Amino acid sequence: MNLSEQLRQTAVTYPDKRAYIFEDQAVTYENLDHKVSVFAANLSSEGIKKGDHVALILGNSPEFLIGYYGALRAGAVVIPINPIYTPDEIGYLLHNGDVKAIITLEQALPLVEKMSHQLPDISLVAYTGSGEEEKTISQTKLKPFTKMVEESGHPVPTVSIEDDDLAVILYTSGTTGKPKGAMLSHLNLFSNASDTGSYLQISSEDVVITALPMFHVFCMTVSMNAPLISGGTILILPKFSPQEVFHVAEKYKATIFAGVPTMYNFLYQYPEGRAEYFQHMRLCISGGSSLPVALLHRFEEKFNVRISEGYGLSEAAPVTTFNPLDRPRKAGSIGMNITNVVNKVVDELGQELPVGAVGELAVKGPNVMKGYYKMPEDTAVTIKEGWLLTGDLAKMDEEGYFYIVDRKKDMVIVGGYNVYPREVEEVLYQHPSIVEAAVVGVPDPNFGEAVQAFIVLKETVTEEEEVLEHCREHLAKYKCPTIVEFIEELPKNTTGKILRKALRKHVNV
Ligand code: AMP
Repeated sequence: MNLSEQLRQTAVTYPDKRAYIFEDQAVTYENLDHKVSVFAANLSSEGIKKGDHVALILGNSPEFLIGYYGALRAGAVVIPINPIYTPDEIGYLLHNGDVKAIITLEQALPLVEKMSHQLPDISLVAYTGSGEEEKTISQTKLKPFTKMVEESGHPVPTVSIEDDDLAVILYTSGTTGKPKGAMLSHLNLFSNASDTGSYLQISSEDVVITALPMFHVFCMTVSMNAPLISGGTILILPKFSPQEVFHVAEKYKATIFAGVPTMYNFLYQYPEGRAEYFQHMRLCISGGSSLPVALLHRFEEKFNVRISEGYGLSEAAPVTTFNPLDRPRKAGSIGMNITNVVNKVVDELGQELPVGAVGELAVKGPNVMKGYYKMPEDTAVTIKEGWLLTGDLAKMDEEGYFYIVDRKKDMVIVGGYNVYPREVEEVLYQHPSIVEAAVVGVPDPNFGEAVQAFIVLKETVTEEEEVLEHCREHLAKYKCPTIVEFIEELPKNTTGKILRKALRKHVNV
């Protein structure tokens, strides 16, 4: 089984059910499946063959969904790219990813034209928007996306897709060096979406708010592929805003919301947010970074919902653990192994550590990537004997629940003692005046490194000394920040992850 074939089957089982709703327009499974087939047929009539690479440079939209499934049905490999990347960043990914076709916004065409001489392999650009014009610039054909989902004169390609065939290359931001392309097979993607879906009991009754960016693997698997496998309905939001989330949650009786912790914070802080908007919500899902325990409790209480935190990474398509639905939810934990996936905590030599010991989290399962595209050395240090080394420090309790302690590289060493920023941030979030907090290590002449906290305040009357006093009450002295900087907003990427690199850079300026 694979995602495209599964969509065909879901369309047979639930032809008239709503597959997605976008800007109040609902599209049924039968209709979606038809568009996907027509798009696949047009891609193949334009010369896109099995194994060719197709870049999707789009925000959240039906075009993303149709382009993604259509390319997979044609046997192509999808490379999702964040549309807000700079021309240089996009150029690098198109070049490194050996892209043959692009699906993008009409507004991006001047850029594509400018880059076309550097990217001679690109033969097709399908552009979304109101434009109707079809033209060829040197070797590249520009074609309106709407035509490619409406003109159904070509046969749907019959491509045999094997489990191990490449389906998607996900470029991970990578904190050092250039981005690396995690190669995910059809089995990786399908198994993770169906295993996550069954673990979270996602069904045809579910209405899922798709507010995370669709080009990111968290959204792709949890808020797009998993509900579509089950015949659920996805509510595609062009971008996240608390107002829109509450609005669609109420209007369409949404049952699942998936977000990163910063989204939960925004929803919690939104003055007009009320529990009644979430009255049909059976599950809120958090992942992508640690959800501060204080925020989890406040949110659950205010909106009368349950948050289940899970964990994943691009290289694992992405989900490896979730808090279970049929057992207690443990605040601060990323939960347990999902179906078919095994996690363990290992030492530097790859030996499994006992319960409670902190080490690197390693993962094995049908979801683990094939490797990094054109980077065999990086693949060899990341996957050892089938175990994917995540780069995250974790521990496991006696009941099999895992806890992320921190990212290996974010650990701060103060005079020889390890300080995990997450532990300090958890304490900061308990302070009633603190809206957001992030902690980084900065150079210190006496201790090697010192702990610096960046804080966004609710009320500006709070003084640095009050924050420090709060930390001293709850943390050993060496873990307490020695520098506190109040700022208006923490820098974040489009998936809501706090950019610690930018904070460290800010300190050095
Ligand atoms: P990405 O490949 O962009 O999905 O990023 C994966 C990384 O996000 C992981 O290696 C973790 O560092 C982080 N991450 C994901 N989920 C969690 C979580 N629940 N708690 C802490 N960190 C997380």
